[in-house]
Amino acid sequence: MVDFLPFQSSIISDLLGSLLEQDPELCPGINCCMVCGAPSKQTCPACNSVHYCSDKCMEADLNNLSDDEEEAQGHTPAVCKLLSSCSSPDKDSCRSELESYPSTLSNLLLSHPSFEPILFSSSSSSSRKAFQVHVVGAEKGSELWTEEGSFGACGWREAYAEALDEVCEVAGIKSFELVFVGLNLEEKGVERLSNKVSACCINSKYEDLKPSNFVKTTPDLLTLFNAGFTCPDYDWAGTLQSVLSNAIGTIPFFATSNSELENLNDVEWLDSNGFCSFDLDGDRAGGDGVGGNENEDLVEAFFGENPFKGSRVRQSGILANDLYVKSSFLFGGTLRLPRRNKKRKEEEVNDDDFDGDDFVGGGGGGGVGEQKKKKKKSKINSALI
Ligand SMILES: [Zn+2]
Ligand SMILES: [Zn+2]
Repeated sequence: MVDFLPFQSSIISDLLGSLLEQDPELCPGINCCMVCGAPSKQTCPACNSVHYCSDKCMEADLNNLSDDEEEAQGHTPAVCKLLSSCSSPDKDSCRSELESYPSTLSNLLLSHPSFEPILFSSSSSSSRKAFQVHVVGAEKGSELWTEEGSFGACGWREAYAEALDEVCEVAGIKSFELVFVGLNLEEKGVERLSNKVSACCINSKYEDLKPSNFVKTTPDLLTLFNAGFTCPDYDWAGTLQSVLSNAIGTIPFFATSNSELENLNDVEWLDSNGFCSFDLDGDRAGGDGVGGNENEDLVEAFFGENPFKGSRVRQSGILANDLYVKSSFLFGGTLRLPRRNKKRKEEEVNDDDFDGDDFVGGGGGGGVGEQKKKKKKSKINSALI
């Protein structure tokens, strides 16, 4: 289990920074020298994971340049060791990463106070009939993994069944329905995973999802693992607009991201585009909010670390010394169609106030490390994943 992950270890010199601006394809330490951006001639002999042009640049990166642990440290022994484990991860950490998908879904529903209204309110007197979750952008090796090659773990069917049976029991749900939507998914119709849990994989873009006997237009919860709302490759605004236009009312959701900065970028994107209001500067007390409709939101907005993440450490694909754990941060709330004429109060959101401690994982949040206040790092890191 990793207790402390160096947040950002790639040192970007001014020279390297200007090279990156000219050529966005350059990935320091991956397809060019980590220190100066020149063509790679060698890699670190210990981890074989970081490229350099010369011994001189390699030594420069090995030398710890800053005493401040919040600053980038370069290729320290700790980073080198973690990078070695990235290329040959152990079974347990691989399994924990895969199981973090059902685990995050079930534990968040059971322990996060924001989800109490959708999980418990209507089930108090008579048992609730069905609860449907749409998992958007599901992939075979991630949300959906098979028994073969799964490092001795059970496959996704058993893992979701076990995790969600517990939710059904606690919340009095008779039928928990999972709809996985993504490209390259194998469609097998509705599959029964347990007495109460069933699932259906649909090979489609989410905005093209067709309602059916099983698939509802408006899910009880929308789930997006590693959504990346600011990723330029996807038209998230278009997708959310079309989904919300077809929905009956608002849609409760949660999403995960791979770093604190990415989480903050996603939250700011949803907030500034009017899909969900987040209390980014911490001064929106007691529902006296800017949007004026916070009271209509079933699920109150939240963001912070994900206590239910796995333990597999991965190397960034953009900056060789940087490490991350999938879905290590999360956020959620209620999605709604943006109001056209909604006036924004803030000229600009001040993100220095984000300290990630808005999310307290209810009673079940054991293992949430103490949440350290971090200064915002170099802009480069926003492209981390
Ligand atoms: Zn170099
Ligand atoms: Zn190394």
